[in-house]
Amino acid sequence: MANEPNNTLINLRHLKTWFPIRRGVVGRTVGHIRAVDDVSLEIHDGETVGLVGESGCGKTTLGRTLLGLETATAGEVWFEGTDLLTLSERQMRPHRRKLQMIFQDPFSSLNPRMTVLDIVTEGAALHGLIQGSREGEARRLLQEVGLGDDAMHRYPHEFSGGQRQRLGIARALSVQPTFIVCDEAVSALDVSVQAQVINLLMDLRERRGLSYLFISHDLSVVKLISHRIAVMYLGRVVESGPSREVIEEPLHPYTKALVSAIPVPGRDRTDRIVLEGEIPSPANPPSGCAFHPRCPSAMAMCSQMWPTEREIDGRRACCHLYDA
Ligand code: SF4
Repeated sequence: MANEPNNTLINLRHLKTWFPIRRGVVGRTVGHIRAVDDVSLEIHDGETVGLVGESGCGKTTLGRTLLGLETATAGEVWFEGTDLLTLSERQMRPHRRKLQMIFQDPFSSLNPRMTVLDIVTEGAALHGLIQGSREGEARRLLQEVGLGDDAMHRYPHEFSGGQRQRLGIARALSVQPTFIVCDEAVSALDVSVQAQVINLLMDLRERRGLSYLFISHDLSVVKLISHRIAVMYLGRVVESGPSREVIEEPLHPYTKALVSAIPVPGRDRTDRIVLEGEIPSPANPPSGCAFHPRCPSAMAMCSQMWPTEREIDGRRACCHLYDA
């Protein structure tokens, strides 16, 4: 890790999360679902990295593996100079509160029998982080996410979707994290509410110096909040780089298709690249470049060899179009 920039907060090195496919009465392993397959990615202090790709490409599994909610098959997850995958459950405990997650559906992740007061202070109390009273702590957190004191003694079902997401954010903030995985955190919300929650997340990033991995299937949402974007296809990152460059000049044919689908007012849709077919099964990925059955630029070699990752003008892309 000698060459690691000193503001690197998270560094994923060749991370793999494979799930065994078991058959028969003895549960013999007959194959693997390669949900995350050799992903390397850095996230710096105060940075938001947008992770984008179609449903089933492995985005959520990557976020969950990073937080220790799924077991990695191989690779390294460096956080504040420690490889988390080498730690025991006990050694992991002090790191766990610093790594939080905001979910797509806050309703199912908020205990319906708990009041907001309990929901937003339970974690902080457990970690001994409350200085004064629980009420005072809850009031401060609710104010920070744009909710009033009157929320404190109510239950999750009494709130709208956007308000529930604010409660989910307050709960994540309550244990003073440094890094948050936002997993499709605004996907279930109306467009106007999406914008409010994204603004809140950006404010909190500035105020608290947070870093985010912002996971979404929607590039038009990801580009609003992300400093850098990583594009995932079938368990691998196929392109990554600064958001503006990735959006304005995508390198990888898959990224080009995703960018062409972003609605632009006044632009006709004749230039949209429509991909044929579905994302293949991660249990049986195509040979060579896994995108080749759907790629408009595929060449003969694409079905035979996985392309080596290349650095191109400060970006990284995996595509034979950029072979030297
Ligand atoms: Fe398309 Fe070939 Fe590039 Fe894969 S390697 S994205 S199939 S051109």
